[in-house]
Amino acid sequence: MTPFANQILTWYQQYGRKHLPWQQDKTAYKVWLSEIMLQQTQVATVIPYFERFLEQFPDVNSLAKAHIDEVLHLWTGLGYYARARNLHKSAQIVADQYNGSFPLDIEELNALPGIGRSTAGAILSSVFNQPHPILDGNVKRVLARCNAIDGWPGKKVVENALWAVASEHTPDKRVDEYNQAMMDMGAMVCTRSKPKCSLCPVSEHCVAFKQQNQTDYPGKKPKKEKPTKQTWFVILHHNDEVWLEQRPSSGIWGGLHCFPEQPNADIQHYLQTLGCSEGEINNAKTLIAFKHTFSHYHLDITPVLLNLEQVPSLVMEQNQGLWYNLSQPQKLGLAAPVKNLLANLKYDLT
Ligand code: SF4
Repeated sequence: MTPFANQILTWYQQYGRKHLPWQQDKTAYKVWLSEIMLQQTQVATVIPYFERFLEQFPDVNSLAKAHIDEVLHLWTGLGYYARARNLHKSAQIVADQYNGSFPLDIEELNALPGIGRSTAGAILSSVFNQPHPILDGNVKRVLARCNAIDGWPGKKVVENALWAVASEHTPDKRVDEYNQAMMDMGAMVCTRSKPKCSLCPVSEHCVAFKQQNQTDYPGKKPKKEKPTKQTWFVILHHNDEVWLEQRPSSGIWGGLHCFPEQPNADIQHYLQTLGCSEGEINNAKTLIAFKHTFSHYHLDITPVLLNLEQVPSLVMEQNQGLWYNLSQPQKLGLAAPVKNLLANLKYDLT
């Protein structure tokens, strides 16, 4: 065991997290679920989602049998919905092809949708004590600083350098504790903007600490100006219900339910395509516009609320949508801005 790993493990005994929900009665299913939820999301946010999810789907077979809408419904608010779709697909593969037990071979596990090398390593080390390294965002930060590894970890050459030091230090024994300790170190001590180096068990090995340039590592992603796009949400309201359409399974908000979208403010034209005349609208109101930011662009959204006298026949014929009851909402996966709009709609309807 390297002195670095030894010091990390000693620190873990005293300070590491041992009471997280997925650490109790550990199973591959629980660790996998937590790992996927924790990608791009903090522990405190994940815990209630994890608990609700586990209550509804206690094992991989129950998740495999679920309808994707139920899965997306429980994921609503966590973002990055491809994670939920991949989770569902992987559960079906594990149930169908592996008899409900996760494969114990890292290559096979790595090949499942949404499971990368680090997640596969985390599951196998945490539950089965296989000595695989992990490299999530927290671990990358600790290793990049300790070893002064320059550059953005999204670049292959930088990532490879990080994997090399991660492998070098990952011990054969107590690998479950070591990997957890590295994640905890990154989350609790070697934090993004103000690392607590005076409390760090490996400061003597840390090159960035010696150079006093800790926050230079890891390197930042090269900045690209995000473009801004525009869209109009058409909120068709009738009799305490609003019309929602399910989006295609790929692309933004894939598989989630959303208000119909229009690329411009010409709502009249849209209504004509529905076979809806002006006389059928009690009133129309443009609501406050807002911005929603994706990883690659900003989206300026202008919601337009239309109170309908009667349901337009063409809307009724569409099978990719449904009337969503505002008093007794159905369980659906909703795009985050739609969820927020629905929560506030009662104020606009009065
Ligand atoms: S000494 Fe500071 S920068 Fe280096 S690993 Fe420890 S907390 Fe991070």
